Amino acid sequence: MATAFSITRTAAAVSSASRRVTSVRAAVKPSAKATMRPINDRRRRVAHFAGRDSCRAVVAGATGSADDLLVDDEAGLLDFVANDVDCIVMDCDGVLWQGDTLLPGVRESIQLLREMGKRLVFVTNNSNKSRRQYVHKFEKLGIFVEKEEVFSAAFAAAAYLKTQKFAKKAMVIGGQGIVDELNEMYLEVDPGVFNAVQCTEMDWEELDIDPDCGAVIVGQDTSFTYAKLAYASLAIQRGAVFVATNPDAGDAIGPGLMPGAGAIVASVEKASGVSPEIYAGKPSAFLLELLKGNHVDMARTLVVGDRLDTDITFGRAGGAGATVLTLSGVCGLEDVDAAMEEGGDIPDHIVQSLPHMLGLNPEDAAAIEFVEDDQEDDREGDNTASRDDLDDYLDDEGFADDDDMLFDSVDDQEARDAFGGRI
Ligand SMILES: [Mg+2]
Repeated sequence: MATAFSITRTAAAVSSASRRVTSVRAAVKPSAKATMRPINDRRRRVAHFAGRDSCRAVVAGATGSADDLLVDDEAGLLDFVANDVDCIVMDCDGVLWQGDTLLPGVRESIQLLREMGKRLVFVTNNSNKSRRQYVHKFEKLGIFVEKEEVFSAAFAAAAYLKTQKFAKKAMVIGGQGIVDELNEMYLEVDPGVFNAVQCTEMDWEELDIDPDCGAVIVGQDTSFTYAKLAYASLAIQRGAVFVATNPDAGDAIGPGLMPGAGAIVASVEKASGVSPEIYAGKPSAFLLELLKGNHVDMARTLVVGDRLDTDITFGRAGGAGATVLTLSGVCGLEDVDAAMEEGGDIPDHIVQSLPHMLGLNPEDAAAIEFVEDDQEDDREGDNTASRDDLDDYLDDEGFADDDDMLFDSVDDQEARDAFGGRI
């Protein structure tokens, strides 16, 4: 069955040297209307999901070859996404970006999914940033998301303690994102050893653990020190709950795998002799419950990621409608072949990248310039939003008056504590 939408793009030529690549008016701010118009006839075509009438055909431990799962035609999985999927749960590192570099065609892919009316959920095991910081990162890369669309491992770790009615202090080995999420939930942070870099035998004998330290959260920490390890280990030995953000050993950035949270978690585990009580991020059942509690219907959800042991395992454990591995990050075809041999979780489909999944050529898409609706006004010096502009926006969005957007601080806090009504 053909899809019910059409892919259209604005035919605003950029230059004679790049006639094929055109400027696209995109939803770069809330009031902008998502309008995409054709670059050429090939792009206009909405391809059929030929020959793939079942996206659940492959099960863990299946025999065969990774090549059998590779989607290599121009259509990608576009028709399936259009007709059989309501929600896309998307990994970030290795799918959308590598480090701070946006991968080619990702902006256009997200724009297309928005235009198709798909719910997007960005689930990242990177715990360095809070949800608010991720919103800013997306924005810097030209992609606009809502905080409620982001589920980071930092958020999940703090949320886990909140669900446990945790009332003591949490020591953090990890990024500022974890501290920020704890603060948002009014959970107290134990500063631990701050900037101490060493812990000698004499220091150890005098090490003073805050008796109110009831939890240690461990994620990726680019300032990880022996002193932090010593404090965390002793706190855990004295009964603090050991919460790990995620088990990822590393992310493919630049020259190779950069050490991830899993490497530091292993260090704390070895030093303390205690295993984490929970890994809050993918592929944990806790994170799955968070998503389900936020009304994500996994049966109508496509899980997209670049790792078998977190993303694909998470999707399969959660009963996702389908799982897709992108080859733009950590795992390659050889990893899928190995998982097949060893009986590990394998994806339903493999694509080169997110744009390929949607039948888009990433290089063409990456060359498209996204332009704000009122950019021409900005060039003329009118770059200040007026009260009339705000009123127009509110009218467009269905608000009778901007007072409707004001929230009582108590209500706001209750809403945040409720995590969208789940907890
Ligand atoms: Mg990833």
